[in-house]
Amino acid sequence: MSLKPVSHLATNDLLPRFASVVGAEHVIADPAAMSDYLSEPRRLYHGRARAIVLPGSTAEVAAIVALCDETATKIVPQGGNTGLVGGQTPSEAGDEIVLSLIRMNRLREIDVLSNTIIVDAGMTLKDVRTAADVAGRYFPLALNAAPACTIGGNLATNAGGSAAIAYGVARDLVLGLEVVLADGRVLDDLSKLKKNNTGYDLKNLFIGSEGTLGIITGAVLKLFPKPRATVAALAGFRDPDQALQFLNLAQEQVDTELKTFELLPRIAFDFVLKHEAGITDPLPAPHAFYALLEFTSQSSGLEKRVEELLEAARTQGIVADAKSAATPEARQELWRIRLKIPDVQALEGGSIKHDVSVPIAAVPAFLRDVDQAVTARIPGARLVAFGHIGDGNIHCNVSQPVGADKAAFLAQWGEINQIVHGIVAKYRGSISAEHGIGRLKRDLLPGVKDPVALDLMRTLKATLDPKGILNPGKVI
Ligand code: FAD
Repeated sequence: MSLKPVSHLATNDLLPRFASVVGAEHVIADPAAMSDYLSEPRRLYHGRARAIVLPGSTAEVAAIVALCDETATKIVPQGGNTGLVGGQTPSEAGDEIVLSLIRMNRLREIDVLSNTIIVDAGMTLKDVRTAADVAGRYFPLALNAAPACTIGGNLATNAGGSAAIAYGVARDLVLGLEVVLADGRVLDDLSKLKKNNTGYDLKNLFIGSEGTLGIITGAVLKLFPKPRATVAALAGFRDPDQALQFLNLAQEQVDTELKTFELLPRIAFDFVLKHEAGITDPLPAPHAFYALLEFTSQSSGLEKRVEELLEAARTQGIVADAKSAATPEARQELWRIRLKIPDVQALEGGSIKHDVSVPIAAVPAFLRDVDQAVTARIPGARLVAFGHIGDGNIHCNVSQPVGADKAAFLAQWGEINQIVHGIVAKYRGSISAEHGIGRLKRDLLPGVKDPVALDLMRTLKATLDPKGILNPGKVI
């Protein structure tokens, strides 16, 4: 995103006051220059804003928020603008400011002995991973959006990703936070301590709150030893039940060396092979389902242990066929198929999305129920259910029937959501596994959340943001 100088100051009294805090060049009010910040990756929402304000430090964020508190100006916090539920997009009313953290991208400290890194919230995930790597450490949060998404956004959405099976979700990777509250005060909870039982764990209120309770400006993140060996594998199955049997075997046999376990249906392979040049079928015969696995280890012999695992699975009749990939090039080839799925699905016409989770053991029955219910409602609809089965988290997307009218298909978005979410409820799952609630699922929340939990959420919101200026209209 290019930063263009402020131009419409005269039409908006507050803007000169913002400019006096962050510098005129960091207040964008020209409609054309604002456009990058006003829509989101799926183009479901396109908002308007009074201005985009880009502070460069925690003190500047605090001063801007204090000004907003004084004038009851609504704020939409934004990081890399990669969120998939519209939480970072302002409303169409045009009365909010977008507070973009992308200028706050400083590495504050790496402490190798404590295994911690302290960063500004606007640092991209990719830069955090690189900084850890340079210091001989590993930061495991792994999302396809890493070059653009920021740590602040990752924490505000409690992002998941493909390494959560081993390292947990974003919440599990944080020791401390720095947060600007709705009245402009700064909460300094930048603790490196693993053990600190001194009252309520306040950081966890802000993680996953999607910018509705405070603005995250800094974080202390956990680091891990850099893996010495990495091996990937692809296995083919008859059905998701076999995939789960294999997951169980893998966890028994290699335990914490298993870092990723992703489910891919054959239809996703077909889409990738059809639309992506240079990708060939990795296994000789097609299979109804596949799992992409990645293993990492500190000790030697990983490749042999993975081969033994695949052999045991073949012998027990759990996998139909499998191959491992030890070199970076071979691993990348397997990953390419997984990473291309969202792009090629878009080339197959309309896609109705679901980011859901159910207990891991329930995934096969859940997928069967969804397939049956969705195709009964829309004959020919194609279920492309892929993702983090090792966490029970499936991106349960429905592609339009071949040759169908895209707009007419997408008009059934709400109805299909209702069907899928009904099945999620049957298995006591979640309608948002890792992307959050934002604006997309806000109206669905009261139907799925325990009323007491919802009441507590509203109480917290009213306490921490009494004027309702932080990301209004999102989450609750
Ligand atoms: P934004 O999109 O800018 O904002 C997201 C939300 O966080 C908004 O509600 C915003 O108001 C709030 N926010 C942002 N910064 C702050 C802050 N500093 N303080 C308070 N609130 C803030 N998500 C996953 O969980 N797993 C995946 O595997 C995954 N893969 C993705 C792949 C692609 C290609 C894309 C486009 C997205 C993917 N996502 C995934 C979703 C998205 O990348 C994550 O939600 C990410 O964590 C958002 O970070 P961001 O900096 O872009 O935040």
